[in-house]
Amino acid sequence: MPVITVDSPNTVDLASLAQSIKEWGRELGFQQVGIAGLDLAEHEQHLERWLEAGYHGEMDYMAAHGSKRSHPEELVPGTLRVVSLRMDYLPGDTEMTQRLTEPEKAYVSRYALGRDYHKLIRKRVQQLAERIQQAIGPFGYRAFVDSAPVLEKAIAEQAGLGWIGKNTLVLNRKAGSFFFLSELFVDLPLPEDPPHATEHCGRCTACLDICPTAAFVGPYVLDARRCISYLTIELKTAIPEELRPLIGNRVFGCDDCQIVCPWNRFARPTDQSDFQPRHNLDNAGLAELFMWDEDKFLSNTEGSPLRRAGYERWLRNLAVGLGNAPSTIPVLEALEARREYPSELVREHVEWALRQHQHR
Ligand code: SF4
Ligand code: SF4
Repeated sequence: MPVITVDSPNTVDLASLAQSIKEWGRELGFQQVGIAGLDLAEHEQHLERWLEAGYHGEMDYMAAHGSKRSHPEELVPGTLRVVSLRMDYLPGDTEMTQRLTEPEKAYVSRYALGRDYHKLIRKRVQQLAERIQQAIGPFGYRAFVDSAPVLEKAIAEQAGLGWIGKNTLVLNRKAGSFFFLSELFVDLPLPEDPPHATEHCGRCTACLDICPTAAFVGPYVLDARRCISYLTIELKTAIPEELRPLIGNRVFGCDDCQIVCPWNRFARPTDQSDFQPRHNLDNAGLAELFMWDEDKFLSNTEGSPLRRAGYERWLRNLAVGLGNAPSTIPVLEALEARREYPSELVREHVEWALRQHQHR
């Protein structure tokens, strides 16, 4: 990061610059912009305890980067503040709850129905940095979007965007939790926004109670190894057998602990066309998706978050969904058609799924 080249920060009206950054952020499609200082000590301790307990499973990148994660100034030397940005992603009416009650349909996490958000958001954060540069001249910055070494939820809370709820997600009283976070590290001593000091979960435990796999060890503590998002996206190997029946028809991620959250009554639909569902993914049958060949998977998931799973794990996840689906002809035919699939991982999940139907 280049050293700040504004002659002296005192020559810039930092308060009005902070105000302008928020306005420019909103013009660029962000619903909320806040400015955080660098004190993340409390969150660092929480992360360390979580890692020590092994709740991160195979996500070694969570443990990598050491103290840089909770010290933005170590990750990007010269950083003085972090601009935290929120962009809502919920597509319009995708009948989330309805899909979860239709066991022959696939449920894809709402954030993954459209185009991959990284590219779009990174471009917007970069544009914001350029706007600042036009106003004050060259300065040091770096943009992050959903990036492993950044404690983005802690930063968002610190920047006043919301509080970290019992479901471990950032919640906002006017917007719920269906949003992406991104960050712009800057070497400008901007005035900090007050951290979100109060939490508004109160006595509610809806998210903890609804979790299909009982992944919450307690409020604010998630054992990722049991979370369906982890099992269907991060885990590279076989899904533990005892958890498969609990996954239902969720084939890529899970939104249950958000859908049930009362604050998500206030979530507003996105106006970004990129986040709208593609290829009927909000209403597709499990058997139909299972029959996509690899070429079709690759073309239909081009520029989509689903690519992250890769074709083999996509089939693995769908096989679990089909094992949990009713024993209809299309379901059984789809499973039979993949019985000899070259991947041992897929074959094992297909055999498991067929056994579920035999035992009914
Ligand atoms: S995403 Fe689903 S599985 Fe994971 S904690 Fe939330 S409700 Fe549980
Ligand atoms: S469901 Fe209830 S406890 Fe869970 S995050 Fe929302 S308000 Fe908090």
